[in-house]
Amino acid sequence: MARVYNFSAGPAVLPLEALQEAQNDLVDYKGSGMSVMEMSHRGKEYDALHNEAIANLHELLGLGDDYQVLFLQGGASLQFAQIPMNFLGAGQTADYVNSGHWAAAAIKQAQLIGNVNIVADTQKDIPTRMPALADIRWTPGAVYSHITTNETISGAQFKTLPEAPTPMIADMSSDILSCPRDYSKFAMFYAGAQKNLGPAGVALVVIRKDFAAKGNISIPTMLRYQTHIDKNSLYNTPPCFSIYMITLTTRWLKKVGIENLYRLNVEKAKKIYDVLDASGFYRGTADKAYRSDMNITFRTPTEELDALFVKQAAEAGMKQLKGHRSVGGIRASIYNAFPAAGVDTLVEFMKDFEKRNG
Ligand SMILES: *Cc1c(COP(=O)(O)O)cnc(C)c1O
Repeated sequence: MARVYNFSAGPAVLPLEALQEAQNDLVDYKGSGMSVMEMSHRGKEYDALHNEAIANLHELLGLGDDYQVLFLQGGASLQFAQIPMNFLGAGQTADYVNSGHWAAAAIKQAQLIGNVNIVADTQKDIPTRMPALADIRWTPGAVYSHITTNETISGAQFKTLPEAPTPMIADMSSDILSCPRDYSKFAMFYAGAQKNLGPAGVALVVIRKDFAAKGNISIPTMLRYQTHIDKNSLYNTPPCFSIYMITLTTRWLKKVGIENLYRLNVEKAKKIYDVLDASGFYRGTADKAYRSDMNITFRTPTEELDALFVKQAAEAGMKQLKGHRSVGGIRASIYNAFPAAGVDTLVEFMKDFEKRNG
């Protein structure tokens, strides 16, 4: 078996033991004679996996029964539209923090539905950063306030989360469960699974039930959060295999523990940032106060060297280090399941590359 060090921003590296367990059970899940891909989503085997994923997430997130864990399709991107469709009515205002590419994508969808107030804007700032909490001007009476906890493309992350006086909604696609967090401060949060939780094809949506109950009832049934709450994410056929993989990754997350994971994540990120800081060759993209522990963005002195870096790293077994196509540069995504040994290998490569080209 030859596994590379996979720095992909998403779909991203999964815990090896989760992949191996899935492999082991791929054609005959626990003596059922079927793959999880082939069985009814109403059967007892799938039902147990589905409810275990939900229970594991409740436990990992530290949330009680006043919150519902949902598995929906359409990715985080459909949430950008579904949130305002449910909660932003005529004559109402929703607050949005525009912190980068993904926040802007959420704003664009909300503006199709209703009135949006952009309460802080750092989308175009270089170095990339999040707004200072004191600079955010919340709207009194907004129906909700939306933030993006980690901007996956720019590599900027809130180190202290904003707290609006109105119900908070957060896109946590790229840093959910990567650090201890008080999730009960949010009326709702969501994450495409393919970064920190599992494979593509499912989005985790966690919503406080009393907040969901206020949702618009005159939108199509599939788009109402209440529908999926009432049916425990089984209103229609869910992405069973993706959810099964979440069951396996959440088992792994429980075993490692969020506190441990956070310590490891910070250690991993610091090793790379230390190289950037000690070097006159590399330049980090993000303002130091907002550097992401998940997506580390940087550049060499030229685009040619960036390309050479990505190419030679790939030849040395470190794949998918190219920055997002919209910004270029280099991006090392080191989510929960990314092994520490891969960071050590990258750090050695970075030092060597600088010696050869600096
Ligand atoms: C990847 C990403 C998205 C888009 O997720 P999809 O599941 O592809 O729709 C949205 N927000 C953030 C922060 C992301 O990292």
